[in-house]
Amino acid sequence: MKILMYNTVADELPYVEKWAEKTGHEVVTINQPLDERTVERANGFDAISTQQTTAIDAPIYQNLAHFNIKQIALRQVGYDVFDLPNAFANHIRLSNVAAYSPRAIAEYTLTQLFNLIRHNKKFDRAMAQGDYTWAAGGQAREIHHLTVAIIGVGRIGTAFAQMLHALGAKVLGVDPVYRAQNEPFVTYTTLDDALAQADVISFHTPLNDETRHMADKDFFAQIQPGTIMLNFARGEIVDMVELEKALDSKLLAGAAFDVTPNENDFMNQKQLVSDLPVDVQRLLAYDNFLLSPHIAFYTDTAIKNMVEMALNDAVTMVNGGFTENEILR
Ligand code: NAD
Repeated sequence: MKILMYNTVADELPYVEKWAEKTGHEVVTINQPLDERTVERANGFDAISTQQTTAIDAPIYQNLAHFNIKQIALRQVGYDVFDLPNAFANHIRLSNVAAYSPRAIAEYTLTQLFNLIRHNKKFDRAMAQGDYTWAAGGQAREIHHLTVAIIGVGRIGTAFAQMLHALGAKVLGVDPVYRAQNEPFVTYTTLDDALAQADVISFHTPLNDETRHMADKDFFAQIQPGTIMLNFARGEIVDMVELEKALDSKLLAGAAFDVTPNENDFMNQKQLVSDLPVDVQRLLAYDNFLLSPHIAFYTDTAIKNMVEMALNDAVTMVNGGFTENEILR
């Protein structure tokens, strides 16, 4: 089978080569996304895969159908790039990679929690100025004495809960879906109760109408002084104005974010700090606010899984088979 892989990045190439060698399929990689200019490239291939944030618009599906392409295998979770009605109208089957490595995100959330409780940013900044003293306020808390509320105990939340439990932390879970298998390491409770008890609040929900601005003024009014907030899910879950107020008033002892509502303005780009959105500049000035450029997913395991799962799905679908990653109408 001949597969065309759009928008391939250098990190993916070793895994593509290994997969092609193992399966005997031919994979051609290009570094442009699938759009109206590049769709012609698919002519003569049996299957295609892409990962991209730009929309795959209506005429593209017609073109693909014309080239006898029957599927698109996306190498990412979010599939809002697709025009589902048009894809289905043109008999194009679609797949995404829903769970490439929940551990990747969970491990990075834990890394940043440790960085916050050990005040590493503060110490790094002091040392950069030649100050090797035990700066005031640098005394840490230990993780096994903390109560962590996980909002959204799905794939990532569960992986995070397991690690926290293994480290001796008390883990509270808030989720409309109750998973009995999590009981050994999660105590399920209500949001109100979790906010009243938690030393650490960590968001792992999808972004939807219910979770958008879930952390609003009322939410912050319920949390305990000295709470740590972690957002490794989606920026819009937290009202950033309220977050800034809570850092400013020291209601929050610290926060670590891998995502922000305006991240498309600067994530994965090179920029001077002075060119960043002004709210991000203000947040970066805090010793106890950690920002990372949406990299929680970025591990070797995750990239390998994204490539292999998408290519396997492409072959399965072209052969008329079924995959649990298929996006159904
Ligand atoms: P998942 O679907 O397995 O789990 C999400 C959980 O949230 C589910 O159990 C769901 O019931 C729960 N939930 C939904 N609404 C809720 C609410 N109002 N209150 C409490 N819980 C609620 O998803 P996942 O794979 O664990 O991913 C979670 C999120 O992490 C994704 O939606 C994505 O936004 C984010 N993510 C971030 C990165 C990164 O690199 N930073 C990478 C992948 C995913």
